[in-house]
Amino acid sequence: MSTNGRVQLGTWPTPLEPAPRLAAALGLGSADLWVKRDDLTGLGGGGNKVRKLEWTVGAALTDGADTLVTTGAPQSNHARLTAAAAARLGLTAVLVFPGAPGGSASGNLALDGLFGARIVWAGDVDADGLAEVAARTVERLAGDGRRPALIPFGGSNALGAQGYAECGRELLAQLPDLATVVVALGSGGTMAGLVAALGPERVLGVDTRAMAEPAAAVAAMATGAGERAVTPGELLIRDQPGDYGVLTPPIADALTLAARTEGLVLDPVYTGRALAGLAAAVADGTVLPGRATVFLHTGGLPGLFGHPAAIRHAEDGLRDAATAPEPDRHP
Ligand SMILES: *Cc1c(COP(=O)(O)O)cnc(C)c1O
Repeated sequence: MSTNGRVQLGTWPTPLEPAPRLAAALGLGSADLWVKRDDLTGLGGGGNKVRKLEWTVGAALTDGADTLVTTGAPQSNHARLTAAAAARLGLTAVLVFPGAPGGSASGNLALDGLFGARIVWAGDVDADGLAEVAARTVERLAGDGRRPALIPFGGSNALGAQGYAECGRELLAQLPDLATVVVALGSGGTMAGLVAALGPERVLGVDTRAMAEPAAAVAAMATGAGERAVTPGELLIRDQPGDYGVLTPPIADALTLAARTEGLVLDPVYTGRALAGLAAAVADGTVLPGRATVFLHTGGLPGLFGHPAAIRHAEDGLRDAATAPEPDRHP
C-alpha cells in the first residue's frame, strides 16, 4: 500500500467537469470553466486534505508510527480526514482542538467521533498555545509507550504539498491549455503544490485569512515542493473581505449560485470564499473569458453542517421556494 513513503488513501484521478451554467452566470464563456472535483477524493467524506495526508501519513508509517496527532479547529476538515486515514490504516487518531468538551457535536466533529478519534481539548489558547498542547500530547503518548507522529496544521508542509504538485500534473493531463486554477488558501499547502507544478502565474489563491503571512508560507512550501525557488511577490493572492469563517454576503451568494447553476455544494469557509473570489476576479478583469479556468473544489461539505449561519442561509432558500410559482399539479 505504501510506495516511496507515500500511502494510497484516495481515488485518483479526480474528475474534471465542465460547468457551463456557472460559467455563463459569472460572465465567462460557457466552455471556459471547469470544476476539478477534489471533493471526490474518496476517503472519509473527501476533500483536499487526502492528497496531503498520503505523503505526511506515509512518512509517519515509514517512521513506525501507530498514532497520528494533529491540530485544528473543531470544524477542521483536515482533522476529520486525519481521523479517517487513521481508521483506514488501523492507527489511533488524537485530535487537539481549542475549547472545552460538552458542546453539541455537529459537522466535522460528529464525524471525528464516528471515526473513533480521541479529542484533546486545549482550553482557551491561541495558535501557539494549541501547538504547545499538541507537543505535550505527543510527549505523553510516547511516555505511555505509543509511537505518535505529529501531522502538521492543515497537513501543510513541503512534503504534504507534494500531493498538490501531483494534482497540478493531473490537471495538465486533463486540460493541457489550462490558464488559471482558482483555489482557496488556508494553511497554504494546496496552493503551494499547484504553484510548484504549474508556476505562480497559473494559480490564483483566494485568501481565507487563516494565517497571518500567507504569501511567505506558500512561497516557502512551493520552493520546498518544486524544482525552483518561488518568491512571495510572484504569487497571485486575492483577499476577500471578512475574517476567517465569517459568512459574508458574497460568500452566501456564491453558495447559492453554485448550488442553483450546477447542483454543486460549496462550503462557507473555503470553497464558497474561493468562488466569491473568482466572481470578483472575473468582474475586475483578472480572469478573462476565452481562456480555460479551473475552479478547484477542495471539499468541506461536512463543515456546512457545522456552521449555523450557513445552515440559516440554506434554509432561506426554502422561503424563496415557498413564494415561487406553483409547480404543475399532476391529476
Ligand atoms: C483546508 C481546506 C482548504 C485550504 O487548503 P490549504 O492547503 O489548507 O490551504 C480549502 N478547502 C477546504 C474545504 C479545506 O478543508
